Amino acid sequence: MRFENVQSDVTVVGGGLSGVSAAVAAARLGKKVALIQNRPVLGGNSSSEMRVWVVGATGHGVNRYARETGVLGEMFVENQYTNPEGNPYYWDLIVLEKVRHEPNIQLFLNTDVHEVEAEGDELNRHIKSVTGWMMGSERKIRFESPVFLDCTGDGLIGFLAGAKYQIGREAKHEFNEAWAPDVSDNITLGSTLLFYTKDAGRPVKFVPPSFTKDITQTPIPIKRVLNSGDSGCHYWWIEWGGAEDIDTLHDNERIRDELWSVIYGIWDYIKNSGKFEAETMTLEWVGSMPGKREYRRFKGDYVLNQNDLERQTQFEDNVTYGGWSIDLHPPEGMYAADYTSRHYHSDGIYQIPYRSLYSFNVNNLLFAGRNISATHIAFGSSRVMGTCASVGQAAGTAAALCVENKATRGRFMRSI
Ligand SMILES: Cc1cc2nc3c(=O)[nH]c(=O)nc-3n(C[C@H](O)[C@H](O)[C@H](O)COP(=O)(O)OP(=O)(O)OC[C@H]3O[C@@H](n4cnc5c(N)ncnc54)[C@H](O)[C@@H]3O)c2cc1C
Repeated sequence: MRFENVQSDVTVVGGGLSGVSAAVAAARLGKKVALIQNRPVLGGNSSSEMRVWVVGATGHGVNRYARETGVLGEMFVENQYTNPEGNPYYWDLIVLEKVRHEPNIQLFLNTDVHEVEAEGDELNRHIKSVTGWMMGSERKIRFESPVFLDCTGDGLIGFLAGAKYQIGREAKHEFNEAWAPDVSDNITLGSTLLFYTKDAGRPVKFVPPSFTKDITQTPIPIKRVLNSGDSGCHYWWIEWGGAEDIDTLHDNERIRDELWSVIYGIWDYIKNSGKFEAETMTLEWVGSMPGKREYRRFKGDYVLNQNDLERQTQFEDNVTYGGWSIDLHPPEGMYAADYTSRHYHSDGIYQIPYRSLYSFNVNNLLFAGRNISATHIAFGSSRVMGTCASVGQAAGTAAALCVENKATRGRFMRSI
């Protein structure tokens, strides 16, 4: 095993679209950035490993003139030019090239950060370093910098540093949100695996594995739309793990097994029930890492909530915009018999304040992505990747300015 030390201005942990945008933004402001991603591919849920398509402020076409520009906008344009067919592997290349193009970024793929060195009392913590293990290389690497960004989705870095956070749904009285339950609980959105199909051009059979679920014993064939040629995000509803007795993080393996049993059950139903024209269809790809929708949300100086989205609150420290609907799913996920998802569309785009992008109690920690300081209801909208990426660009810019000004997280002070 090799031990190494890396010194940077900004350390970004997590190479999803929020981490990539944050790293590029900080690097373009002249800061040395370490971008650490625990998987071999960048892009997080948008990568070919997960294949979730990127949406953002445009919403479901409701805000049709709204669209992310900045780092994500550059990647969108590149994607339109090089990848009009939407090949997931070509998208991986676009994200990788965006990072490789920045000489100030040192990229560490396959590096899983799981140690954090932090000090200070509960309300004033300070991160000194984070340490990761690079798989396949037997390198243990310690990253030091004045400012850290947690773009891991699940929020492991902030958790290990002692940052305050919330999991689950807030009670109505906390933020006076119309959609919040009367009593707070642990309910989250669940996780999902997707699959791709293709036409083999000749009849092909499907022999289901032993763990295949008989979906005719579930509400799926009645409540959901099944088509033999559909792939990817058409099946966003193959979701499970959000109920109170399951933890989307610690029960990740159990959730994957349940999702696999249903994917093969759906495919068995499509191929072998005789109800579909699927003789020549085959499975081209099946996901193996559950795409997680929700876990920790850190506490910043401000908690974005449903009222801000509905009323389109104007923030003095506005740094970016969201516009996707508040999009929440039932805790039973794919087994829900009543509704599949609930949407609330604001009257246009809404603002996201800088105070939601830094920890109120860890003085050099910023965050971007699905773990920002928002209630469960507001997260229902801010979690989409277009918004995560623009939040990432804002947080990366802020991190660079903090280093420049020798500030820690650059706490926002209201002007008087
Ligand atoms: C099935 C599904 C469907 C969805 N549908 C849509 C949709 O249609 N459109 C849309 O825009 N959004 C959609 N979302 C939401 C969106 O994908 C997520 O909210 C978004 O990806 C969050 O971005 P992120 O950067 O915070 O996290 P991620 O995209 O998960 O990226 C975080 C990255 O950090 C890495 N990482 C984690 N821990 C560590 C560590 N300790 N060390 C190093 N690296 C680490 C992970 O490997 C990952 O690549 C969906 C989500 C799911 C699961």
